Amino acid sequence: MTTTQRLDADLLIPGKGDPIEKGALVWTGKTINYAGPHKDLPMEYRKLKASRHAVVMPGMWDCHIHFLGAEKLDMMAAAITSQALAGARCVPDLQAPLMAGFTSVREVGGYGAQLASAVDSGKVLGPTIYGSHSAISMTAGHGDVHSMPLDGLSALTAHGVPFTVADGVEGCTRAVRLQLRQGARIIKVCASGGVASEKVNPDHQQFSNEELKAVVDEARRSGRAVAAHCHGKPGVMAALQAGCLTIEHGSFLDDETIDVMLEKGAMLVATRAIIEGLLAMKEHLTPVMREKLLHVADAHSASYKLAVQRGVKIALGTDTFSSPKAGGTFGYGKNGQELLFATLAGLSPLEAIEAATANGPLTLGPQAPLSGQLRKGYDADFIAVESNPLDDISILADSSNVTHIWKGGSSVKSSS
Ligand SMILES: [Zn+2]
Repeated sequence: MTTTQRLDADLLIPGKGDPIEKGALVWTGKTINYAGPHKDLPMEYRKLKASRHAVVMPGMWDCHIHFLGAEKLDMMAAAITSQALAGARCVPDLQAPLMAGFTSVREVGGYGAQLASAVDSGKVLGPTIYGSHSAISMTAGHGDVHSMPLDGLSALTAHGVPFTVADGVEGCTRAVRLQLRQGARIIKVCASGGVASEKVNPDHQQFSNEELKAVVDEARRSGRAVAAHCHGKPGVMAALQAGCLTIEHGSFLDDETIDVMLEKGAMLVATRAIIEGLLAMKEHLTPVMREKLLHVADAHSASYKLAVQRGVKIALGTDTFSSPKAGGTFGYGKNGQELLFATLAGLSPLEAIEAATANGPLTLGPQAPLSGQLRKGYDADFIAVESNPLDDISILADSSNVTHIWKGGSSVKSSS
């Protein structure tokens, strides 16, 4: 029998809307029954024994993460790592974001779609995963593994390795179907070059308008939204015109691109954490990557600020792909850094929390679950923190400040 449980909180931050002082939260099994002021608690829940916490808010969403079992930023190494080894390496990598208060992730290029069932069954501890499987790339694009013979890469693709190269309307349509076959809940497409790939330029559009439209159309027929990796303006414009829901990174947004984002209701997942993470380790990057990083870093910061100022809907993603280096601030478990970066881009702490919670599921379009809010009928995913993140958002950046975590109504972390 599923039991009904209650907690009381000095402050309840619902994810969307104003914080509630002296709040209460009631849930049965995996679903919230009541979240609101303690004084309005329905009679039937008043006699439940309640635990008491300082601040309670929804579990957070990292809307841009990768689980590849990668030990370094090297696509070739990721592609040829055996899938069993990659899966085993992902076990602690899945656990770390959950323990930092991230109860859901949107995984946009990696083994997430495959790993989701291991998490759902309770075999592996981790956030609920909404995965894309591959990031679909054109030949010679951002998600191609340039140093590998193409036939070798397609053999790996056919065996479920999450790298898919496609060309032409037909090829792009089939590429979407290949991801659905792996359990994709979101489709990811590379609409411009990027920083981490060697031979591509972040300013260049990738895929033709027709190809991008084919990806979006096929995704839409299966109720999937499309996330577009793009930095430069031509890629952003093409992705938006094709109907992609989210712009990932968006390093060179200007008023014109933002007008189109607002008109289309597109969202920005800026991923500042990876830019800061790479800047901190720039001497270890290849000269080509370093040059591209320096090309996008300042523009990205200005672009993020402009998007916030103009009212683009923001969801948070970190682009985490590896474990943190000793003393580093980037890597699995450091995901809460992104809230701090969001406030540096101009969001208030309350807005940053909304971007990390209520806005997360919106990046999945029709696949969005009822999650990210403390609200009746929503997933019972929530966290407790010792002090008020509205006074100091950086407390969410340190996982040790997240003292309690409930996922699907069950306690997965309790430090007291
Ligand atoms: Zn990424």
